[in-house]
Amino acid sequence: MRAEIISIGTELLLGQVVNSNAAFISRELAALGIEVYHHVTVGDNPDRLTAAVKEAEERADLIVLSGGLGPTEDDITKQTMSNHLDMDLILHEETEDRIITYHKNSDFEMPENNQLQALILAESTPLKNDTGLAVGMMLDHGDHQYVLLPGPPDELQPMVENHLKDELIKRLLDKQVLVSRVLRFFGITEAQLAKKIEAVVKGQTNPTVAVYANEGEITVRITARAETEKEGNRCIDEVESQILEPLTDYFFGYGEKKLDEVVRDLLMEQGLTITAAESLTGGAFLSSITSDISAGSVFEGGIVTYSTEKKHDVLNVSQKTIDNFGVVSPECAIEMAENSRKMFEADIGVGLTGVAGPGSLEGQIPGTVYIGLSYKGNASFAKHFHFGYKRNKNRRLAVLNTHDMVR
Ligand code: ATP
Ligand code: MG
Repeated sequence: MRAEIISIGTELLLGQVVNSNAAFISRELAALGIEVYHHVTVGDNPDRLTAAVKEAEERADLIVLSGGLGPTEDDITKQTMSNHLDMDLILHEETEDRIITYHKNSDFEMPENNQLQALILAESTPLKNDTGLAVGMMLDHGDHQYVLLPGPPDELQPMVENHLKDELIKRLLDKQVLVSRVLRFFGITEAQLAKKIEAVVKGQTNPTVAVYANEGEITVRITARAETEKEGNRCIDEVESQILEPLTDYFFGYGEKKLDEVVRDLLMEQGLTITAAESLTGGAFLSSITSDISAGSVFEGGIVTYSTEKKHDVLNVSQKTIDNFGVVSPECAIEMAENSRKMFEADIGVGLTGVAGPGSLEGQIPGTVYIGLSYKGNASFAKHFHFGYKRNKNRRLAVLNTHDMVR
């Protein structure tokens, strides 16, 4: 199946909004083994949209349109498709009821044109909007399949994940099942990871392998099409072991769980408590530890010491260390880790010190970070990192790498 994505919205052409919908839809389709050959963007103009749809019909089986399902003047997608396919728009009652109920329960008066959001192409299957009002739809017509999705990403994404995928799978699989597994990695760049598994991914159609990167954490999703779930999993097992072989050092878990959640769960499982003395991260590491309700069982307190003076006065980092090595040093990171551990009577203490940037400190360039780790009964140590020149990215990477070290 070949697909084409048409993004509709003058704001996209003006560069006011980045076309994240096309990227998202492409990734989701790729995971289903559907190839996307073209992305097209058009403004809110019926003639140009019709022309784009005609062109797409020449080269694609599945045509996915995003945007313009709302109730305002410039929302032209449904009317344009109705004219183009010579198909009526009819009222989808369930959506109409939702719109009426929504306005009854809110302080807003319902604008008359709001009901437009409940119109669907007569022969289409409605796609429920879990987070908004405009209903989406999927239509089989002639040799083509058409999908109409709302523009706001927080409406489009759940619609794709919760409803469109099922409709597509039904058409693609014909009694087969789709099984997928998510592997998560840290400590390697997306490009390096892709290189290491190049041979496995190349030409792979079943299962398919998709790589996503997000702020240092990398996700690999393996998706298999099979007669049964068991067979699908067997198929995935094989590819998974080929992927893990060169990447074991970087693998930290399955599923959607993020690195900080994995670490928190590990600490809880082993009954360990953690604390930190933070400088350049200003509490961000401990904030990530405390973001979950279960934090109380692994964390009692921690400290932020930003200035050199407070590192000495409050945290007891020795004057000798400060004079001889400076605060941006492994020695200081280790003392911060050890002293915080004692101060808060924790099993694990972490010390974070470095140069967030953009300026230098103690002659060290921005992005220089030392993370110290003190674990009861073990020798303390510090690791040196060099991230880059972006202040907040450095701070986020310092937090993630601390989790990686604790793990
Ligand atoms: P609404 O009911 O909000 O009007 P709609 O389906 O009519 O929804 P649009 O009016 O086209 O959608 O877009 C609404 C908003 O969604 C835009 O202002 C924009 O912020 C966002 N949006 C639209 N298209 C995209 C896109 N391709 N990528 C990212 N964001 C988009
Ligand atoms: Mg709109």
